[in-house]
Amino acid sequence: MKKERVPSEPEAVWSEKDMAGGETVGAQVIILRTNGCCWAKAGRGGCTMCGYRTASMSGVTAEDLNKQVDLALSKYKGEPFVKIYTSGSFFDPAEIPAAVRDRIFDEYGGCRRILVESRPEFLTADLLSTLPAQLTVALGLESSDEEVLRTCVNKGFTAAQSREAGMRLKDAGLGVRTYLLLKPPYLTESDAIEDAVSSALFADPFSDEISVNPLNIQHGTVVERLWKRGEFRSPWIWSLIEVMKRLSGKVNARLMSSPSGGGSQRGVHNCGACDQRALAAVERFSFSQDPRDLDCGGCECKSTWERYLGAEKMLGTADDVGRVLANELNIRG
Ligand code: SF4
Ligand SMILES: [Zn+2]
Repeated sequence: MKKERVPSEPEAVWSEKDMAGGETVGAQVIILRTNGCCWAKAGRGGCTMCGYRTASMSGVTAEDLNKQVDLALSKYKGEPFVKIYTSGSFFDPAEIPAAVRDRIFDEYGGCRRILVESRPEFLTADLLSTLPAQLTVALGLESSDEEVLRTCVNKGFTAAQSREAGMRLKDAGLGVRTYLLLKPPYLTESDAIEDAVSSALFADPFSDEISVNPLNIQHGTVVERLWKRGEFRSPWIWSLIEVMKRLSGKVNARLMSSPSGGGSQRGVHNCGACDQRALAAVERFSFSQDPRDLDCGGCECKSTWERYLGAEKMLGTADDVGRVLANELNIRG
């Protein structure tokens, strides 16, 4: 039975590993329940791959949020890194009122590193001058291609606006983690690889970390509709490895990826037999930055992936060619 969602309880709290000050450390992850992303609620449907609209609530008060923070604090075990997500923008006052925000920074003031996410429009120079020095802000750039952002992602801001926000954060002495979307809808797998590589090069000057996020098909999204019709396949793990290999040594930012839904049909996946090995290689690389760690021992499906890329080009389509032509070409992956 589905758990009832209560506004005074966070969506989730757990502990995992991440990096702070060049070291692997424990990180507390808190997902707060808020009134949701302003862009998803704006009537334009939000981003094409984002299912957070269904996850957020309405009528969440400052009191509810304070109770959520109390609960997160009760589970806090002194992790040096704290990551606070809201399924939207931490700096949108409609999601997190300023008093709650200040309390969070105060309570976690002893942490070595704090990470939050925000759309660029909330990151004004005035606000940034008031923020704690150990803060990293994650920016959802997704792609540096303005056309991809507008037509494939429906992001509602431009890559130039993300870059300006990133520069402002750097000027204020704060950290920047940039998210890139691997395989926005309507792009072929090969175009998606190129898009992620060029987007990382674009983001590097204002990013301390670049997180390559392979698209994970969420419920109730435009992408889910395309997927159900055979017009989208979530990316191959081989594509993610290819992006990392091509960028390794070319950017100063730390490259990382911790895919949601990896190994499932909705998430980044290969043939099934090698998925966990390939994902483990990506995880190792995310910490070490050593491209030798991307070697996962290979699999027969790597040649299937290569044929998949070739078939897409030949047919000139971003549809799931494996599904469409499974019988004819035997390239199901
Ligand atoms: S991806 Fe981010 S900006 Fe886009 S709708 Fe979802 S929460 Fe809002
Ligand atoms: Zn395989």
